[in-house]
Parts: sequence; C-alpha cells; structure tokens
Amino acid sequence: MKREFAVIGLGRFGGSICHELSKEGMDVLAIDLDEDKVNEFKNIASHAVIADTTDEKVLKEIGIRNIDHVIVAIGDNIQASILTTLMLKELGIKKITVKAQNDYHEKVLRKIGADQVVHPERDMGKRIAHSIISNNILDHLELSDDHSIVEVKAGKKMSGRSLIDLDIRAQYGCNVVAIKKDKEINVSPMATVVIEDGDVLIVIGSDIDISRFEKNLVVDDD
Ligand code: ATP
Repeated sequence: MKREFAVIGLGRFGGSICHELSKEGMDVLAIDLDEDKVNEFKNIASHAVIADTTDEKVLKEIGIRNIDHVIVAIGDNIQASILTTLMLKELGIKKITVKAQNDYHEKVLRKIGADQVVHPERDMGKRIAHSIISNNILDHLELSDDHSIVEVKAGKKMSGRSLIDLDIRAQYGCNVVAIKKDKEINVSPMATVVIEDGDVLIVIGSDIDISRFEKNLVVDDD
C-alpha cells in the first residue's frame, strides 16, 4: 500500500516537499489557507484542499487521521504552526515533521511532541558554509548538535595513501564509513584500501574532530 502524506503550508519549502513526494509517486494531500496556493497544487498533489489547520474540526473533516506522515510547513505564523502540531498530536498522527522558524520555536515543537523538527535555512546555511571552505567538502549533514557526517573528495593530501597510513580514527577521532570510487561504493572499507585522487570519503564524527580532519587532510594548502 502507498504511504500517505499531507503537507500543510504550500510556501517555497512545503511546496517543494509536495512536488518531490508527488514526483516519487507518493499519495499527497496538499493543504493551505490560501486558495491560489491550493489551486497551484491541484494538478501536482493527489488532493489539494483549502483549510485552516488550527481548527480541529476542519482537520477531522479533511480526514487527516488517515494520513501516516504530516509535514507542517507553516513558516511565519509560529502560533499557527504550534497549534496545528498540537492538534495533529492529539489526533494521534503517527509521524509529524515541522519546519521551525527559530530556536525558541524548535524548543516548543519538541516539547509538544513533534517527531522531527527541521530548520531548512539554518541547516542549508551550514552546509553551504562548509562547501565554501573547500571545494573538496561536498556535503555536511548534521546528525545532532555536535555530530555530523561529511562527504569529502580526496585531494592531494590523501591520494595514494591507505586508511592505515592516514590513521584517521586515531589521529582525528572520526571514522571513514564508506568510500565511493566512480559509481562503486565500498561500505566499511578495510584499513588497507588505498585512496585515490577524486575518491569520495563519507566520514562520521564529532564536529570538533571533523573540523580538525577537514583542516588537516581535506583542505588543500594552496
Ligand atoms: P517559505 O519560506 O517556505 O516560502 P514561509 O516560511 O514564508 O514559507 P509562510 O509563507 O508564512 O511560510 O507559510 C507557508 C504557507 O502556510 C502559506 O502559503 C500560508 O498560507 C500557509 N498557512 C499559514 N497558516 C496556515 C494555517 N493556519 N492553515 C493552513 N495553511 C496555513
């Protein structure tokens, strides 16, 4: 059976989620207060309805209780975002993802039981900052407040050396969980694997350790 999603708030963020889920063949109910936004998504999502999701009666009427995963992408109106989340929680929705506007908003959302809180502007800012530091840092994904996964391209400092030789775990405290060579991915690589120019390493660790690893082995000196 297809999983059912609902996206509440069809701004840039919610709209983009709605587009992608629909493109992947998911069943999506698109919801917004604004009639123009709803009309825009009529031919994209499986269903699109005009509704004020801060009203519990309205949520019940649109059948929100049958949905597996609801994404609350109401931005500016923090009160509406919190009220909607609370109502969804009370209606027993299994999974609720909410976009937070700031740290205070995030804290409240976590307190009332949002399963996943996302902070797209802040997170994207962090990811872009890391890729600006070096062309070799391809991506940076936050796992928690102080742990991340990074995807880095091997440059001159790593090329031709094995994992034993680089001694990344002992020297920098982080772990290479996979190495991508062209289209092949080597998960949990042996310590004897030799890294070649252009290989992509996926590394997990604390932010402090990853930062030392990046400065010493990823960022080229020139
Ligand atoms: P983005 O940056 O993703 O464009 P934003 O952070 O500017 O969005 P808003 O434009 O404030 O967010 O909100 C996103 C959408 O949520 C809007 O289209 C708005 O009409 C809708 N919205 C706001 N309140 C409610 C509500 N109570 N019920 C349903 N939709 C709502």
